[in-house]
Amino acid sequence: MREKYILALIQFSRSTKMKNLPIWERGFSRSDKANLLISNNAYAFVLGLIFDQSMKSDIAWENPYKLKQRLGHLNIKRIADMKIKQLTCIIAQKKSLHRFPRNIAKYIIKSSLIIKDEFQNKTDLIWRKNKSIISAKKNFLKLCGIGEKKANLAILLLAREFKVKFDDVRFLEIALDSHIKRVLSRSGHFDTLTEDGIAEMNSIFSKMHPNFPALLGTSLWYIGRHLCITTNPRCKICPMSKWCLKRL
Ligand code: SF4
Repeated sequence: MREKYILALIQFSRSTKMKNLPIWERGFSRSDKANLLISNNAYAFVLGLIFDQSMKSDIAWENPYKLKQRLGHLNIKRIADMKIKQLTCIIAQKKSLHRFPRNIAKYIIKSSLIIKDEFQNKTDLIWRKNKSIISAKKNFLKLCGIGEKKANLAILLLAREFKVKFDDVRFLEIALDSHIKRVLSRSGHFDTLTEDGIAEMNSIFSKMHPNFPALLGTSLWYIGRHLCITTNPRCKICPMSKWCLKRL
């Protein structure tokens, strides 16, 4: 039954619905200008990643553009030289770009220092130095405010949206968030509460969708956000319904 569940998920990930998902449902913002900045500027991409916590992701990914407007630039060296208090005030200007402006300011300044010193001001060296997700992940984790989950998300977005080639993309784990965890735990087929359970799940996904297993996370996220909602899940129209054990 678990295999059939994954096959149904693979089928859904190839559906027109998933192929035509709007960009703000694929991890970016509703603003064309902000999305363009993130597509053309690797540093803005990292800033979006840093902002993407404790707030809706489509709003978070608009923030690099808004921050650029407030600062008048996105110069790595100049931002790395700022005082945390100074950047906090700019982020916190009304309307504040984040609920925790001081933390975000600290993460941005510390990460900018690392990009300046370790990556010679070239943010894309974080993922372009080697064509390996292991190396890219190690580099992302050096930054401040980026943990395992965000590092996986960053690599997923780079590979899926910007077609960055990684030789070992089959080892990229699914970036588990609350939506995905809810869908998987209700399915009754996976244990997302333990490290062993998560490792087992990634290994099964990798066997059944070897080219790009983490891509299935996008479909799981969509189902969690729109169908498998916290209360009154919409099982009748869910593509997983036949194989989901519906442990509500
Ligand atoms: S069938 Fe129901 S419980 Fe299962 S994933 Fe879909 S909405 Fe959630």
